Amino acid sequence: MSTIFKKIIDRQIPADIVHEDDLCLAFRDIHPHAPTHILVIPKKEIAGVSAATAQDSVLLGHLIFTAGQIAAREGLSNGYRLVINNGADAGQSVDHLHVHLLGGRALGWPPG
Ligand code: AMP
Repeated sequence: MSTIFKKIIDRQIPADIVHEDDLCLAFRDIHPHAPTHILVIPKKEIAGVSAATAQDSVLLGHLIFTAGQIAAREGLSNGYRLVINNGADAGQSVDHLHVHLLGGRALGWPPG
């Protein structure tokens, strides 16, 4: 089933897009938890990491590589965190795989 992120990919609803290529889209989170909070999503509709197949492995790597490129462009030279929530226990709220890029402040560990 299509999610709100598919609507962003299809430009049916607006988003503050910071990167787009053939495989992925990145945009600022609407409820940021850090000064920089960007979501990197595949254009392919994959519900989450647990729904990915072996054919998706290059795509998954691309998401992380791209997040790193965006982090550099955003000036996060002091560090940043990439987070992927998968499933109910992790609090995943949108069933379209997404990598959170968080930075711009010291981040606590462990996460809650
Ligand atoms: P998760 O809880 O890991 O599934 O993360 C979903 C994220 O999507 C949350 O941080 C939301 O704030 C964010 N989000 C939901 N709708 C939108 C939207 N329309 N534009 C940007 N970010 C969104």
